[in-house]
Formats: sequence, structure tokens, C-alpha cells
Amino acid sequence: MIRYALNCEQGHTFESWFQNSAAYDKQTKRGLVACPICGSAKVEKAIMAPRLSRAEPADASPPVPMPMPPTPALPVPMPAKAPVSVMSPPERELRKKLKELREHITKNADYVGGRFPEQARKIHYGEIEHRSIYGEASPDEAKELHEEGIEFHPLPILPDEFN
Ligand SMILES: [Zn+2]
Repeated sequence: MIRYALNCEQGHTFESWFQNSAAYDKQTKRGLVACPICGSAKVEKAIMAPRLSRAEPADASPPVPMPMPPTPALPVPMPAKAPVSVMSPPERELRKKLKELREHITKNADYVGGRFPEQARKIHYGEIEHRSIYGEASPDEAKELHEEGIEFHPLPILPDEFN
């Protein structure tokens, strides 16, 4: 919102609020802005700096960066260029552990596919018995789960899965 001081043809001064300066132009051209004293629709801006209302501080403050939601994804869409690395023995060992973790999850947890958000929510709110599940969630669904405080983790992705 923006406030303008206006003058009518009779020289009356009054103030009026507008959505923005374009709205001011449109409304005065259509004669929709009338002087509250004499009713004249011939008005123009008085020489006075427009004041911005406090209702819209967004213009003044810098954009707030959105926190990135954690990625819960099982199948990651294959990127055009996959990150690659040459691994030395300790890393191979880690990778083996990662593989074990993944295998452990996929062996012991129930695969719920696209019903993951719904199932995770039911477990979180105690509607069904707590158990390990895995499946898929879209970034939006993951964000919602995260905002509800529901804990979940991305499944480890192994490099050779891109091959
Ligand atoms: Zn007037």
C-alpha cells in the first residue's frame, strides 16, 4: 500500500491509499478518486513524497533464504552428469558399510512406495505401530513431513547405481 497526498482542482488537500502507483494512475484516470470535500474527481498528486505503509515491509527487507528440505528420495533421477570419484581403500570400506546399511534397511523395513508420507505420518502420530519403512516422497511431501517434525532419512545412494 502507498499513501498519496492529493490536491483537487479546488485546491483541497487530502490523502488516499492505493495498492501501488499504477493503481493510483488507473483510478484517477477513471475518475474514481474524488475529493472528499467538494467531490471533484479532478485530482492530482500534491508535491509530497509518498510514504510507504508499514503493512508491507517485504520490499525493504532482503529475501530470506528458504532452508532446503532434506532429500528423502529412494530413486534419484539420473543427473546428466553423475558425481564420480576414484576411491582409495578406506573409502571402499565406507562404501561397503553404506551398502550394508542400505541392504539392512531394504531387507528389514517395509517398502511402502509412494505411500511413504502417509505411513510415516501414521507412525509419527501413533496411529499405527512403529516399524521401519522406506519408500518415496516428493520434495514437497518431504518438506511437509519435515515441517511436521517427522523424522526420516535419505536412503544411501551408491555410486554404482548410476551405471
Ligand atoms: Zn476539493
